[in-house]
Amino acid sequence: MQNQQLQNEPSITVSEDQLLKVQGLKTYFKLAKGNVAKAVDDVSFSINKSETVALVGESGSGKSITSLSIMRLIPNPPGEIVEGSIELEGKNLLSLSEDEMSKIRGNKIGMIFQEPMTSLDPVFTIGNQLIESLMKHQKMKKKEAWTKGIELLKIVGIGSAEKVMKEYPHQLSGGMRQRVMIAIAMSNNPKLLIADEPTTALDVTVQAQILNLMLEMKVKFGTSILLITHDMGVVAETADRVLVMYGGQIVEEAPVKELFLDTKHPYTIALLKTIPNLEMELERLESIPGSVPPAHLFPKGCRFAERCQHVMSKCKEQNPNLVEIDPYHKVRCHLYDQEGRGMM
Ligand code: ADP
Ligand code: MG
Repeated sequence: MQNQQLQNEPSITVSEDQLLKVQGLKTYFKLAKGNVAKAVDDVSFSINKSETVALVGESGSGKSITSLSIMRLIPNPPGEIVEGSIELEGKNLLSLSEDEMSKIRGNKIGMIFQEPMTSLDPVFTIGNQLIESLMKHQKMKKKEAWTKGIELLKIVGIGSAEKVMKEYPHQLSGGMRQRVMIAIAMSNNPKLLIADEPTTALDVTVQAQILNLMLEMKVKFGTSILLITHDMGVVAETADRVLVMYGGQIVEEAPVKELFLDTKHPYTIALLKTIPNLEMELERLESIPGSVPPAHLFPKGCRFAERCQHVMSKCKEQNPNLVEIDPYHKVRCHLYDQEGRGMM
């Protein structure tokens, strides 16, 4: 019954609206002694125009490496995209020259990180960093870019924009720095905004303000968002669709409502239990026992098997495929093998 209702949801996506398409992406790191860390190991997903897709999973599951692969910012060596394609508006980013790619970064794709101190340059004023991006991608003259910079800071809710333009990153609070990062990331009206744990370092009130700001930007500019977070509460409030990542792979994918109401993968079920609930006493908040296996030591079977409450002997032998069990709902788990209607 629940399923039936969800399938009638109108918010389902169509492929002409596709903005980003990642297929069979593998990003590996060469380690000492011939070990290979399979940080991203055969990941496929797409993002539609104006859609917010959340990429969730515990620390070490491969979320940041997925986003850095899209930006082609994987440190090489030791890292390398060894297989797959990443298409933005039908163009494979992996076949672009470094020069062409640098025109995409900060222009068609904007990115904000967890800690803006690491991505803002401490020796330049906010104004300088904002106008640099505008002058590079929009060929603005300095004065025009300065005016536009002030306008952008006002859009992201910085009242004293003229003053902040002349300040250095360390003079601002964490929340203000994150607003500046959003202003820079949005300065060239990107098609896609990648936000990697953008609110993790902020206190709860500021977190909510920054998330709201991102959603306002999305409505105003029609931007698609890839939102990386380990916070399922944030996912519930912001995402249209969710990708759950574990051990370098996607283990479940569904529209947000369906993911919460009809959760399939034991890992997702466990993740959802980690959402703090106001009525719940703090001690009852569960964390998932055990930890993500290191990316150079994945077992041959299911990568979650060791921590799974439903583990079967098959799980230790064979890594399940990501299977579509309902339209728009995919899961990588042997519990659903019988129901599978297609394979990826
Ligand atoms: P997440 O963002 O989900 O916390 P990451 O994408 O940062 O996880 O990392 C996934 C895994 O990739 C890490 O657990 C690690 O094994 C591997 N990895 C990431 N960066 C490097 C690196 N520079 N060298 C070697 N391995 C790395
Ligand atoms: Mg990360």
